Amino acid sequence: MTELKRVGVLTSGGDAPGMNAAIRATVRACIYYGIVPVVIQEGYKGLIENNMEVADARTVANIINLGGTFLKSARSAEFRTKEGRLKAFENARAAELDAIVVIGGDGSFTGAMLFEEEHGMRCVGVPGTIDNDIYGTDHTIGYDTALNTVVEAIDKIRDTATSHNRLFFIEVMGRDAGFIALNTGIASGAEDILIPEQEKSVDQFMESLQKSGRAGKTSSIIVVAEGDRCGGVFELSRAVEEKFPEYEVKVTVLGHIQRGGKPSCSDRVLASRLGVAAVEALRNGDSGIMVGIRDQQVVKTPLERAISKHNQIDSHLMKVAQIVSV
Ligand code: ATP
Repeated sequence: MTELKRVGVLTSGGDAPGMNAAIRATVRACIYYGIVPVVIQEGYKGLIENNMEVADARTVANIINLGGTFLKSARSAEFRTKEGRLKAFENARAAELDAIVVIGGDGSFTGAMLFEEEHGMRCVGVPGTIDNDIYGTDHTIGYDTALNTVVEAIDKIRDTATSHNRLFFIEVMGRDAGFIALNTGIASGAEDILIPEQEKSVDQFMESLQKSGRAGKTSSIIVVAEGDRCGGVFELSRAVEEKFPEYEVKVTVLGHIQRGGKPSCSDRVLASRLGVAAVEALRNGDSGIMVGIRDQQVVKTPLERAISKHNQIDSHLMKVAQIVSV
């Protein structure tokens, strides 16, 4: 076992529901194992500005059910520079931190890797992002809650779509990944799903729209991932309006509603498991890794690999989407 006296925890990059549960689990795992937890405000910015304090079990009471992150998150341009990371290290050393648990996405992990390389500060990553775009875990913290939020929103949009001959393009988050779009599209009975991982031209899309019209559908929901390469929801809506004047075309960009809300049970459990796993990995002597869950087991992936590789979209799921939307 590696001797650890003090461990810092921070949330960085985009916030995600379940981050609070991950902070809570990290803090409490530290206390359980006799380590002093230090909570750092606003991600790497707080490290640079020396905005941190020792926590106890009560510091993280009553937060497991809250969305967002009570430590706040930030995008720190200064941490991208060597000078910024040196300042951060000097503060971390003065606070006697032996290691840091970084809850965030791939940008945050890149920062953690550089921090460890340059200053020997041991870091363990916990994947917290709604996009599910991190290799080394089946799911990221916040993804499940975002799926549920999106499905609830689309269900409401369907009510109005079916009351008229309306075609809705609904843009969902996910950056360059289509996980949110594919899964919510299936769950909400979308007529079509456009994701960046699948090459589909505008013409092919128009063709399938024509087919669904022939199949007697008078309203349609098309879920579009924000990273899709068909030109974006507004461009698509203009093209459809021109070709199918019988449809009343509407666009909804769900936006930041997808990041908010109470974390789902699944996200709370995942975050609790991973917060504990991060502290246990540090005690085990690991660093420069991310903890994740694969097939219900905790797995460790080098940060470099977690950043550079991508989870593949399940081709069977794509086929399911195609079959159930005939
Ligand atoms: P999300 O996936 O939700 O956007 P993220 O962790 O990828 O989360 P970023 O904004 O990319 O979010 O990164 C968060 C922070 O990590 C940045 O503000 C910066 O401080 C640090 N960071 C990102 N990339 C680097 C880099 N190349 N070098 C040093 N630090 C970095």
